[in-house]
Amino acid sequence: MKRRVVKYYSTTPMSLHTIMRFEKYAKVETFPLLKTYRVNVPHQLLIQGIINGYQFSVAYKNENWQAHEQVLDADLGIEEKENVTAKIYLDYNATTPLDPRVLQKIMPFLQNLYANPQSSHSLGQKIENELQNTRSKIAKIIGCSAHEVIFTSGGTESINTALKGIAYHEKNVCGHKRNTILTAATEHSATLRTCAFLQSQGFVIKYLPLENGIVSLSALEQALDEQTLLVTLMYVNNEVGVVQPLEKIGKIVQKTSAFLHVDAVQALGKIPINVQEIHADLLSISAHKIYGPKGVGALYIKEQVDILPVLQGGSQEYKQRAGTQNVPGIIGMGEACQIAIREMEKNNCHLHTIRQHFLQQLAKKHINIQLNHELQTSLPNILNISFPSIDGDMLMMMLDEKGVIVSRGSACNAKSQQPSATLLALGITKEQAQSSIRFSFGKYTTSEEIDICIDSILDIKNILTRKQ
Ligand code: PLP
Repeated sequence: MKRRVVKYYSTTPMSLHTIMRFEKYAKVETFPLLKTYRVNVPHQLLIQGIINGYQFSVAYKNENWQAHEQVLDADLGIEEKENVTAKIYLDYNATTPLDPRVLQKIMPFLQNLYANPQSSHSLGQKIENELQNTRSKIAKIIGCSAHEVIFTSGGTESINTALKGIAYHEKNVCGHKRNTILTAATEHSATLRTCAFLQSQGFVIKYLPLENGIVSLSALEQALDEQTLLVTLMYVNNEVGVVQPLEKIGKIVQKTSAFLHVDAVQALGKIPINVQEIHADLLSISAHKIYGPKGVGALYIKEQVDILPVLQGGSQEYKQRAGTQNVPGIIGMGEACQIAIREMEKNNCHLHTIRQHFLQQLAKKHINIQLNHELQTSLPNILNISFPSIDGDMLMMMLDEKGVIVSRGSACNAKSQQPSATLLALGITKEQAQSSIRFSFGKYTTSEEIDICIDSILDIKNILTRKQ
């Protein structure tokens, strides 16, 4: 077959697999960034659709595209065609696209390396070795030993295992002498709802006061007593990016008999994490926030700390978490962690530039905003701002129609139309919280995307103010 030039604009790195299939009959050029997509598409014929659940876009240079499309249809088994427009994704705190290098690493484990790591035959043992290598990689990244890391299905499961595991152990094994759990109102729902559940089981939950989103150290010192079983706090907040002074918090908690659990889901890959330096007894991470696969995470449990497992079954994960491991997911998480650590400085520099550019463009276009957090104490990947007199939900929906994807807060509470509980807990008024948007940037965000986003905000603002 004559080789034709096909330009393939990847809107998701998962489409690498599709690219490989295109390569059978065409020279393929790949553009992983939406920027390229937007710049080039108007000059060419564009075909978009869904292949096996993944969005794809193909633009042909060759005008004899119809024959080509049939070949594509037949070859790729296209089930459905949709008029999907290119999206500018500014919701990286909800989740991130898979890094193509992670996908490459995972592929053999979805195809040939499928044996069960629990099996004692050679294939099973090969997979078990791969899991142990990944465990060691992750342990090295967070500063612990490999046997102190267990794999889970993500941040939520890690947090549940940590909190319930400690609480059940205290209640069932240690005679329930300690009964209080200290946390903060700005925690993720995985923590808040687990705490609410434990409250229904007889535990006392206390919420520490915050100063600009940061836990008051003196209040923490005062709250800790012989009744305190556990302190659970997030390292980096998912809605405003505030970083807790975990080293100081850890030092305070360490002086008592209480355990410290850290939700590091939004911290991993953005700031260095060392469980020794922050004196953590337990620490939760998740892969899908760092360009890894969804549905996989890990929990650090300090060697001297005992938990009662939440899942009963096989003896996987040192008997702390029963169930056959998500091998491709875990392998992907290991790769994603290593890439994230290697490229952390470069990514953070890029994110600083992006956030600065965003703020400068807002000022240049005279768009009035209110900042919902201090920039100095929050990470550069996030900007939570309010647009006075504009309804946040309306703005979010209209931005979506224009191809700009943002959110109002945690993805787990996205369906709720209530103002963000985190913003309210930070002392922001209900009115300001109601007009807030969380923009979260990532390593693929470009200045051109920010320009389009700002222009879209300006357009929407003009439409909405004309209506008023
Ligand atoms: N903790 C924080 C701070 C988060 O941002 C999230 C996800 O949004 C989670 C926990 C839950 O992680 P997962 O989505 O892996 O269950």
